[in-house]
Amino acid sequence: MEILDGKLVSQAIKDKLKIKLSEPGHQDSRPPHLAAILVGNDGASETYVASKIKNCAEVGFKSSLIRLEADCTEEKLVSEIEKLNKNEDVDGILVQLPLPKHINEEKIINLINPAKDVDGFHPVSTGRMVQGLSTFIPATPYGIMLMLEHYKIDTSGKHAVVIGRSNIVGRPISILLSLNTNPGNCTVTVCHSRTKNLKEICLQADIIVAALGKPGFLTADMVKENSIVIDVGITRVPDSNKKSGFAIKGDVDFSNVAPKCSYITPVPGGVGLMTIAALLMNTYNAYTQRLKINN
Ligand code: NAP
Repeated sequence: MEILDGKLVSQAIKDKLKIKLSEPGHQDSRPPHLAAILVGNDGASETYVASKIKNCAEVGFKSSLIRLEADCTEEKLVSEIEKLNKNEDVDGILVQLPLPKHINEEKIINLINPAKDVDGFHPVSTGRMVQGLSTFIPATPYGIMLMLEHYKIDTSGKHAVVIGRSNIVGRPISILLSLNTNPGNCTVTVCHSRTKNLKEICLQADIIVAALGKPGFLTADMVKENSIVIDVGITRVPDSNKKSGFAIKGDVDFSNVAPKCSYITPVPGGVGLMTIAALLMNTYNAYTQRLKINN
């Protein structure tokens, strides 16, 4: 069994980005710039945004954070996005989700200039991804693909079972794994809360992507020997032993599933770190496309 190490792979990607920024063609221009908008002060969202900003600084990107009150109007958020769309100094725009209930998330996502859509949630990005065209791929599934690529895992012809069909993880990773690419070329089964016989389906899988948000859901009896297991889940579970008062748990019962696997991602230290590395890659790509720099 080999651990797919998100810390190691994300660091390798960040090192590569740092080197690229020091190359000719980059040195004479401004650094890539990611602008994040955070509405309200949800604890998890605060943590995610802070981490994205810290990682931008680490690789030499500029970042800016626009904070809006939880009760800000939709019009206010719309006007901030319109300003960022027009701002020539901004390469990537990220609106941290979820948004407060009174704001129409779909409308907001659709407003972002697709050329700056580094989260890859705009329908133009989704459409291009489905057709296998170059585009911004949502950071978590992109991070998983980068992880598979780094470890040179042969996915061709494998049966991948994806548990979860959300627009940010389950659906895009199911599409990416099915594309005629490397990694890719899988036969994919997408499962969700209405799926019958989930255990039997998982037992037929060579690759399982667990993205449902239920800690420890995937147990050893659902996994065949030598499977590849990708754990996307991030759930805060109360833990009095931790300073924060909570522990982060994945969707996989790691200690019992890991011995059966050929490869497995840990939580924390797996997909979460890859997600940030993938966002940096998207921002870098948005920047080189805007400034017409060879990358
Ligand atoms: P989501 O929008 O809540 O979607 C969950 C999906 O799981 C839905 O499609 C749901 O089915 C399905 N599901 C729920 N219970 C199920 C069950 N018992 N059996 C089979 N399928 C079931 O969640 P998400 O945004 O995709 O996130 C999933 C998890 O990944 C969460 O823990 C989230 O925190 C984590 N996450 C991690 C990262 C990262 O960077 N590592 C990034 C994003 C999300 P229905 O469609 O039928 O409701």
